[in-house]
Amino acid sequence: MGKKRILITGGAGFLGSHLCDRFIAEDFHVIAMDNLITGSLDNIEHLMGLKHFEYHESDVSKFVHVPGELDYILHFASPASPIDYLKMPIQTLKVGSLGTHNLLGLAKAKSARILVASTSEVYGDPIVHPQNEDYWGNVNPVGPRGVYDEAKRFQEAITMAYHTFHQLETRIIRIFNTYGPRMRLDDGRVLPAFIGQAIRGEDLTIFGDGSQTRSFCYVDDLVEGIFRLLMSDYPYPVNVGNPDEITIKQFADEIIKLTGTNQKVVYKPLPQDDPKQRKPDITRAREILKWEPKYSREEGLKPTYAFFKNKIANL
Ligand code: UDP
Repeated sequence: MGKKRILITGGAGFLGSHLCDRFIAEDFHVIAMDNLITGSLDNIEHLMGLKHFEYHESDVSKFVHVPGELDYILHFASPASPIDYLKMPIQTLKVGSLGTHNLLGLAKAKSARILVASTSEVYGDPIVHPQNEDYWGNVNPVGPRGVYDEAKRFQEAITMAYHTFHQLETRIIRIFNTYGPRMRLDDGRVLPAFIGQAIRGEDLTIFGDGSQTRSFCYVDDLVEGIFRLLMSDYPYPVNVGNPDEITIKQFADEIIKLTGTNQKVVYKPLPQDDPKQRKPDITRAREILKWEPKYSREEGLKPTYAFFKNKIANL
């Protein structure tokens, strides 16, 4: 029997490239697709030349062509940090809407199962805490985050419609803040920003008063959750993230301790619509996927810091 074939869009990105690694390790034939607007070939360099790895540079918002059979599709193409989607609002809207439509059409044509990457941003600046999947969210459609939040909300809606109308096998994961090696140093997210600043000897920039909270999940835990959801038979959204919640001020203090740099923090204005609190309720993932995170921040931050140190040393 031939290997199972999987298409991973955004395959050269942070999460996409870790997914390529996982599915190669699971003995799949992996087809990675990316347009490299935020992804980088550095992330998949080590896979190039493997017999069961293919890479295609392509913009899935325009058209997707994949020769041969497909068993699975993972749609992970999208700018995903606030800085990136502020810089590329139209591409963000298109890949979540038109791109998702193209991939659902491809999944239907190939009779493939498709998992789409949604986000905790569908909850907006949440009033319910922690966030469970039945909460509908508090999103400003015309604010700076609207381009990402609404694209992802549309993505969920069209994915459900293909499931109910075409009986397509669909999966929807809502990803909470995730970190690990291969994040971009300049993507503007808090973790690369703080670690980069600490290593360069700069003050750590806290936006607002630092009392806003986030809950950070190590990438290997997330990838395990994605794998389990894809292999499950559950078509409704599932939160995957680490419920260990901290304030951004506490996080800055942890990074200063981790890097041993004795840096100070400076306070900058809070960006518009920045969620005040975020923590996943993972009851559903625990029950349906038998999944929960295994890495503490202390464990996950070690390889992440090593990655960034090495990256900065080689700049
Ligand atoms: N943040 C910060 N300093 C930075 C970058 C981000 O204080 O240099 C804050 C940001 O305002 C937000 C939190 O850290 O409250 C997480 O931001 P990130 O961009 O990583 O992702 P978000 O969870 O907001 O999508």
